[in-house]
Amino acid sequence: MATALITGASQGIGACIAKRLAKDGFDVAINHYPSESDKEKALAVAEECRSFGIKAEIFSADVSKFADCENMVKAVKDTFGSIDALVNNAGITKDNLMARMKEEDYDAVIAVNQKSVFNMMKLVCPVMMKQKHGKIVNVSSVAGLYGNAGQVNYSASKAAIIGMTKTVAKEYGRKNITCNAVAPGFIHTPMTDVLSDDLKAKMLDAVALRRYGEPEEIASVVSFLVSEDASYVTGQVIEISGGLSM
Ligand code: NAP
Repeated sequence: MATALITGASQGIGACIAKRLAKDGFDVAINHYPSESDKEKALAVAEECRSFGIKAEIFSADVSKFADCENMVKAVKDTFGSIDALVNNAGITKDNLMARMKEEDYDAVIAVNQKSVFNMMKLVCPVMMKQKHGKIVNVSSVAGLYGNAGQVNYSASKAAIIGMTKTVAKEYGRKNITCNAVAPGFIHTPMTDVLSDDLKAKMLDAVALRRYGEPEEIASVVSFLVSEDASYVTGQVIEISGGLSM
């Protein structure tokens, strides 16, 4: 049985990806931030995943910390025997116009959104190399492609993920490891629920499909990218935004 490790999978897009990959037949390693409430939510996600007849376990780690990632990757390897797919999904926002943004809010977003992707790819690639195969999907954002006022920290982290994805695709292609990114637009999750109705309406004006995306619509593209159907796809960024940029 192949194993998929998904970071930040206790809610939102990550939880949805875990459930979709479980449905696809993957055993799933569900990472959650080390807090009691995230653990509770992750346990519920694991329970739902098991209903597809696969193995699902939860793993606590703050993915911005290399040592946490090291422990988690070892634990996942010990529990499941392999890591065939890695989805770097964990992310946060700390929005403000640059003039008002605090240095610590810049650093925090870079650490969670960007450094975590380095941590996880650096630790998982050697595992995949030994297996002689592996598929990595990094969750970027349209903010990384086009920028977004109020998100200089977030857009920097998401643009960096695109550069890292292409670099790892080049470095590890000969090892039969693919590395791609998805760039979601405005997706219905706890991250976007907090936006004001005014801002939501303004954002939707720019979307050709005139609606928010659903987490399932991100999960289905990730499902493709970690499948054998995408065996000759690497170093690509797939925008999933309902036609935001045309
Ligand atoms: P979400 O509901 O806030 O989920 C993000 C998850 O990551 C949460 O479970 C969160 O835990 C976890 N996380 C945060 N910091 C972590 C850390 N240091 N270690 C481990 N886990 C951590 O957001 P979402 O909308 O599903 O976003 C998922 C990904 O999609 C993110 O990378 C986001 O940037 C990206 N994205 C989202 C949208 C959108 O419209 N929703 C658009 C483009 C890209 P806590 O709840 O404890 O923080």
